[in-house]
Amino acid sequence: MLCPKCHHVESKVIDSRTAHNDSAIRRRRECLACGHRFTTYEVVEAPLMVVKKDGSREDFDKEKILGGLRHACRKRPVSVGQFDDIVQAVLNKAEQEHLREIPTTEVGRIVMEKLKAIDQVAYVRFASVYLQFQAVGDFEDALNKVRDNG
Ligand SMILES: [Zn+2]
Repeated sequence: MLCPKCHHVESKVIDSRTAHNDSAIRRRRECLACGHRFTTYEVVEAPLMVVKKDGSREDFDKEKILGGLRHACRKRPVSVGQFDDIVQAVLNKAEQEHLREIPTTEVGRIVMEKLKAIDQVAYVRFASVYLQFQAVGDFEDALNKVRDNG
């Protein structure tokens, strides 16, 4: 934190408290060079939330995605590294778009898109579980596409 007066980089925190409904931390600082006191607001890195179909929210839990992937990829040539890449793709999407929350349908869409490029059988297995609440036609489309691709 640069001192606004002398631009010295070191300061000590005199006081800190949350602000803006806990989304930021307000800190009173004192410059170690000139003693000037100033205030900073630092945004708290909020955990990513997922929004479920019924509108309820819960913490993003990568274990839930990994669980679904392990199930879908059983006995398939998909590596743990590829699982991590898929989870990372979801997190990247949230970060790029500065999302604080992401719908489960969007998480599923990203996972399916990635899985489709890696392993078609795992993709259909995952889709069959993930799309169970959506139109049955979606799953049939997915199956037909796999059949068409041989
Ligand atoms: Zn200073």
